[in-house]
Amino acid sequence: MLRSTLLAAARSGGVRRAVETNPLTRSVVDRFVAGTTPDDALRATRELADQGLSVTLDHLGEDTENISQATDTVQAYRRLLCALHRAGLAGRAEVSVKLSAIGQLLPADGDKIALDNARLICESAEAAGTTVTLDMEDHTTTDATLDILATLRTDFPWVGAVLQAYLRRTEQDCRDLATPGSRVRLCKGAYNEPASVAFRNKQEVDRSYVRCLKTLMTGSGYPMVATHDPRMVAIASDLATRTGRAPDSYEFQMLYGIRPAEQRRIASGDEGMRVYVPYGGEWYGYFMRRLAERPANLGFFLRSLISG
Ligand code: FAD
Repeated sequence: MLRSTLLAAARSGGVRRAVETNPLTRSVVDRFVAGTTPDDALRATRELADQGLSVTLDHLGEDTENISQATDTVQAYRRLLCALHRAGLAGRAEVSVKLSAIGQLLPADGDKIALDNARLICESAEAAGTTVTLDMEDHTTTDATLDILATLRTDFPWVGAVLQAYLRRTEQDCRDLATPGSRVRLCKGAYNEPASVAFRNKQEVDRSYVRCLKTLMTGSGYPMVATHDPRMVAIASDLATRTGRAPDSYEFQMLYGIRPAEQRRIASGDEGMRVYVPYGGEWYGYFMRRLAERPANLGFFLRSLISG
């Protein structure tokens, strides 16, 4: 109930204004967001790389409503990729892109605009010597996002996808994508989805996550295990051992600011750990999804508003 309310608020203009304009919000946002500028993103990347972690950078923004905003986002990614290359960090950091930030939801030709824009970002990533992963948004965009992925992969075979274990369709999508060269980030899923398309209780989502993990680990792609759940992390490591995977043939991923000690612990062993680092001014939707994932985060947020 609380989760659904927060996820509905993530798409409400009125709540957004109230949260964004509260001066006390910032300190809580800083826990999950690396800053507002590309320099902030580079600084966070360097700090994490110095600790043996890899990074995927997200220029925050989603549900773009006009074409010039979409173009600005593409330019921001292209400048960021050049900066990563110049700073010698492209071997450590890639980018994550939400297609709705680069035009997917525009009323006329949204999918084509998003594809063309994603292609520009992929060209810059290739020139910088790194990769792109397409984030997955709500279920109404899954088919279109996977179609765009398939088209992009004909020219850029290294483009990664995200699959969400809470969707009933995802086991089949894992089977389809567990192929050579395919990079698949498996997460549980962060949107408010109806029971017709998604598992709604944690046990069902977790069971689906394990089934999907088995498919990806026994397949021939590159699984990216995106979870903070200690049980899922242990099961993924165990499956990797049992399927004879080398430690560099999969990786773990976690979000910036969540379980940082565990991120460093995993990175200090043989297995890889990549941190998803969001930056930029458009933090509202991302921040609200993090609050919805964990009631304790909401408590922390409300206490900071009350106590200053
Ligand atoms: P949960 O069962 O939710 O949590 C397990 C434990 O992790 C909790 O008990 C708690 O200890 C810790 N934890 C989890 N979330 C938080 C939090 N917010 N704050 C503090 N502690 C927490 N979702 C999408 O829908 N599309 C995407 O493209 C996408 N990309 C992602 C990329 C990465 C690298 C990661 C790590 C997640 C991504 N997600 C994405 C979010 C994901 O779907 C989940 O909503 C989120 O990761 C929480 O699920 P969990 O697997 O950590 O397990």
